[in-house]
Amino acid sequence: MKTMNPDVVVIGGGVIGAAVAYGLAAQKASVFMLDREDFQLTASRGNFGLVWLQGKGHGMPRYAQWSQEAIELWSNFAKKLEDQTGIPQYYHRTGGFQICVGEEEYSKRSTFLEEMRTQSLTGTYDCEMISRDELQNMIPKLSLGPMVSGASFCPHDGFANPLHLLRALHQAFIQLKGQFFPSADVQTIEHNTDGFLIQTNITKFSTRKLVIASGLATTKLSALVGIRVPVRPQRGQVLVTEKTDQLFPFATGRIRQNFDGSFMFGASHEEVGYDLSTTNGILQDIANHALTVFPTLKNLQLIRSWGSLRVLTPDQKPVYVESQSCPGAFAVTSHSGVSLASIHSNYLVDWILSGQTQPMFEVFDSARFDVPATA
Ligand SMILES: Cc1cc2nc3c(=O)[nH]c(=O)nc-3n(C[C@H](O)[C@H](O)[C@H](O)COP(=O)(O)OP(=O)(O)OC[C@H]3O[C@@H](n4cnc5c(N)ncnc54)[C@H](O)[C@@H]3O)c2cc1C
Repeated sequence: MKTMNPDVVVIGGGVIGAAVAYGLAAQKASVFMLDREDFQLTASRGNFGLVWLQGKGHGMPRYAQWSQEAIELWSNFAKKLEDQTGIPQYYHRTGGFQICVGEEEYSKRSTFLEEMRTQSLTGTYDCEMISRDELQNMIPKLSLGPMVSGASFCPHDGFANPLHLLRALHQAFIQLKGQFFPSADVQTIEHNTDGFLIQTNITKFSTRKLVIASGLATTKLSALVGIRVPVRPQRGQVLVTEKTDQLFPFATGRIRQNFDGSFMFGASHEEVGYDLSTTNGILQDIANHALTVFPTLKNLQLIRSWGSLRVLTPDQKPVYVESQSCPGAFAVTSHSGVSLASIHSNYLVDWILSGQTQPMFEVFDSARFDVPATA
């Protein structure tokens, strides 16, 4: 082994840690990425693959803008990864719907879009309500169910293959001379005058900069360097059908068609702790929603299902924070790690390497969760 004290150690090889590590290595930093072999279905391996804008950032307009910036970066990001690794990303900015069932959902969605527009930092919000007829005209190969009342439509939404993304990030990182330790389980972190000493099950690493991007372990590891980052698991179950003809060239937050022709239906939002199982009742609800929207899919065989855990902060928005007591230690966590992979490999790298931040970056600090002590 050449050196055990790189410029930066990234703890976590999921899509967030890998995107940051890849971006750092692309800037010629010497980087180690440590990941414990997690045979559970991590979020990065069990997600829906959307690269999504609509609905993100309600209550935090900077996050809406950040998500838009991430999408603007995605095409180049995907192309670069494909050129470097030969692994296709299947990224398409197809446009996406949130399909409304019944008039009440339609009216609630319209109000929500109005709120997003009012909150927007630019005064605009590129997402509009469309009628049932307009929706049907856009998807002539699928008949809408009778309860569908319309949809919101955002032209910036799309999807990619999340497993290819993760594989490409790992491969590109290694090609850029990053060192990946796929079975290094971080046990303790000490801060000293030279930086950080990281004890794993295989060896010790020392570094001046440390990025904790360890999914659901982020809370525990960040506490070792004086950062409070609350995250919790939320289970999402997903269903996959057999392959069929290409029928649906868009996506919704809950239904999309892969490039091999299979449909994916998902994903539930369940507060069940660290439980990865699938349950018949929830899978039935997911399938029922898909058939309410597109009844003609009823003949497709279901071939696979899984449960996977989202990594959620209390407000479900990203946290990017540097430790005040142990400078040089950073914590990075977010839902929507696929959508944000482009920006995580880009702007976060400037912040970690040189302290250069984007405008209004401080909104992402986890201090927003600190409750002031009552007198
Ligand atoms: C059902 C579902 C659907 C989703 N759909 C989408 C979507 O459509 N679009 C989207 O953008 N996002 C989606 N997400 C969210 C997205 O998957 C997550 O934001 C992202 O995967 C989080 O990545 P992560 O790297 O933070 O976490 P993880 O994938 O959990 O990775 C964390 C890594 O840290 C490692 N680790 C933990 N502890 C240690 C330790 N002590 N030492 C070393 N390594 C450690 C783990 O082994 C793991 O590999 C979805 C998530 C779920 C569950």
